[in-house]
Amino acid sequence: MSRRRFIKNTILGSMASGVLGQSFKKPSFQNFSGPRIISTWNHGFEANKVAWKNLSSGNGGLTAVELGVRVSEDDPNETSVGLGGLPDRTGKVTLDACIMDKNNDCGSVSFLQNIKNPISVARMVMEKTPHIMLSGKGAYDFAIEQGFKSQNLLTKKSKEAWEKWKKSSDYKPVINIENHDTISMLLIDENQDLFGACTTSGAAWKIHGRVGDSPIIGAGLFLDNDIGAAAATGLGEAVIRTSGSAMVVEVMRQGASPLEACKEIVNRISKIHKNRPEWEYLQVGFIAVNKQGEHAGYSLKKGFNYALHDTKNQKMIDAKYEIE
Ligand code: ASP
Repeated sequence: MSRRRFIKNTILGSMASGVLGQSFKKPSFQNFSGPRIISTWNHGFEANKVAWKNLSSGNGGLTAVELGVRVSEDDPNETSVGLGGLPDRTGKVTLDACIMDKNNDCGSVSFLQNIKNPISVARMVMEKTPHIMLSGKGAYDFAIEQGFKSQNLLTKKSKEAWEKWKKSSDYKPVINIENHDTISMLLIDENQDLFGACTTSGAAWKIHGRVGDSPIIGAGLFLDNDIGAAAATGLGEAVIRTSGSAMVVEVMRQGASPLEACKEIVNRISKIHKNRPEWEYLQVGFIAVNKQGEHAGYSLKKGFNYALHDTKNQKMIDAKYEIE
């Protein structure tokens, strides 16, 4: 077959079947329903309120998502983000976060210790350096240079939980509403521009040095301002293995709705992990919003929810799921 013919056949083939093997109706982005914010888990509710307030007062989408997720980072009772986050198996709280805007500008920090607001450090990496990701001691030194305060993030409560865990040292990161997890926030503003933020203390009792999906652009968070945005929560290793959030956006690009796209990637994760040891405790969830403001959440197992805030709603939504 000539090269030209091969290329033509490939293009026609992928148009007919959908590049990913399914065909979806092409979305029309004309019925925009207004600005909207969605965030993972129950703590997303309060975070959305702060983000919405910032958006409404004209502070812009980036500041809105940054200050929104900081609500969870600042809360010492929130055991999966920022201050009070559950530590790794050596008793150290290590944080991962990233932020992304409508121009594909992004910043990220991973394995950051002793700084309460990694999302703001991630934003500074984006705005003040030529890089995207800083990690560990380098990220810490950069934060201190930028004026962040060093503090102990292990609270009495999280220290006690760690001491209790050490007695069994069993590693099964249970991820559900009761222990609510990573906050990922997606925002579409009045100009239909997209912004996102994601911050976490990662899997409790992880090996010291482990980095999850949350600071990885394309895994924990991704957006394409022409198409939509997606973010993840759950077992980071499974999300990284599939470039989860980037793939959700790519499936939306093929014409899928946010729900169809989240479902497609959860199904892919499920297929890949069925015969792996982590299947027993595996949970992953995605949220997504498209350029039109349509939104969805979908998880592998029952128990994932997300918070919606817009001109008409301030509520929690139980995500659809694959397994009861
Ligand atoms: N995705 C996070 C991680 O693996 C944790 C979570 O969302 O549950 O670090």
